[in-house]
Amino acid sequence: MTIKIYNTVTRQKEEFIPLEEGKVKMYVCGPTVYNYIHIGNARPAIVFDTVRNYLKFSGYDVNFVSNFTDVDDKLIKAAKELGEDVPTIAERFINAYFEDVSALGCKKADKHPTVMENMDTIIDFVSALIEKGYAYESEGDVYFRTRKFDSYGKLSHQSIDELRIGSRIEVGDRKQDALDFALWKTAKEGEISWESPWGNGRPGWHIECSAMAKKYLGDTIDIHAGGQDLTFPHHENEIAQSEALTGRTFAKYWMHNGYINIDNEKMSKSLGNFVLVHDIIQHHDPQVLRFFMLSVHYRHPINYSEEVLEKTKAAFDRLKTSFQNLKHRLDSSTGLTDNDGLWLKKITDLHDEFTREMDDDFNTANAISVLFELSKQANYYLMENNTDQNVIEKFIKEFKTLTSVLGLTLEEEALLDEEIEVLIQQRIQARKDRNFKLSDDIRDRLKNVNIILEDTPQGTRWKRG
Ligand SMILES: [Zn+2]
Repeated sequence: MTIKIYNTVTRQKEEFIPLEEGKVKMYVCGPTVYNYIHIGNARPAIVFDTVRNYLKFSGYDVNFVSNFTDVDDKLIKAAKELGEDVPTIAERFINAYFEDVSALGCKKADKHPTVMENMDTIIDFVSALIEKGYAYESEGDVYFRTRKFDSYGKLSHQSIDELRIGSRIEVGDRKQDALDFALWKTAKEGEISWESPWGNGRPGWHIECSAMAKKYLGDTIDIHAGGQDLTFPHHENEIAQSEALTGRTFAKYWMHNGYINIDNEKMSKSLGNFVLVHDIIQHHDPQVLRFFMLSVHYRHPINYSEEVLEKTKAAFDRLKTSFQNLKHRLDSSTGLTDNDGLWLKKITDLHDEFTREMDDDFNTANAISVLFELSKQANYYLMENNTDQNVIEKFIKEFKTLTSVLGLTLEEEALLDEEIEVLIQQRIQARKDRNFKLSDDIRDRLKNVNIILEDTPQGTRWKRG
């Protein structure tokens, strides 16, 4: 079976044929690190981590690069507000990002380049575009000459003429055409800046991804991915910059994940429904958030609410229960029984069904349905008091294999002593804050892994049950 990927450029599913046999070069636009990530940022992190998992599971050697935007207007603004410098803020939120996404089961990329560490590469890229006539300097800024790039608009399916309507040069603009965009911005008084042939300044946003993808993966990459909101102008501009420079196709497949709504509304700061991953995972198992994100096809919009997350938890727990029951039954398992072959075949069929769904543009929603079918079959098997070791082991193995493709585990996590201490401190704080829901949740979570709490006048004690 081959994998099919929906390509935003052609607007259809295409057979995935890598540039080099057995290898995948993949670039995913990362976050701007001026704050904790919200669940809108968590979706591409989870989705494309899962895509990478599945490509690896299918035998590909994947080189995965994802950047951090560590210099831009938002960071400069945050630095001013907080009275700190840009690198300090960037470093803090890069660390916070790793903490949050690793809790969500996302592994690190092979490389996480930043703008600051690639300034020379970016400046060289901009200089080369000027030399080729695709960019020009204007009062310390550098702009890309959009109209010179013939196929501009091919990703977002807009023509130059359509784009020109409604865009015009403002008074004081340094650019020659309304569609031109900045590759380099001259520094304002007191802003962080770097020396360049055009004076002190910093890169525009789009150029960093073109420069880093080329540096770390080459002129043409297999998969370029990101949130749907990045299609235009960010990815359109990346294509223009990269293809203008190299004359080659920048990326063979463009993948975009859909929007996330909160309580059926668009997430926005002004609506006050901005949900940070950092906050959610204080109260919910991060795995449940991941499971939720994967329960909808990545290209569809997804609606987040506390209620949906609770339901997702209950569903995820059903899988966990089947898995734990199988492990429990394994202790009393015996040799072969007559109906062995039939059950082993059922499990193999479900494995194949899972991969068929994933081959079809990474349909995790349907793949999860297959996991529930596996759970249903396991429950039947156990209900009938079957005890065949081969079958039980195969059920367990499939649960492990398939959930790990999705970046999930059904194992009850064993907690280290210091993790238990941290949870106990969080519970004490929750009780002080009269947040009894959180306090109970922590107690339950500990109970699930056999840690028993005892509240005494001298404080909370714990023991392993
Ligand atoms: Zn990008």
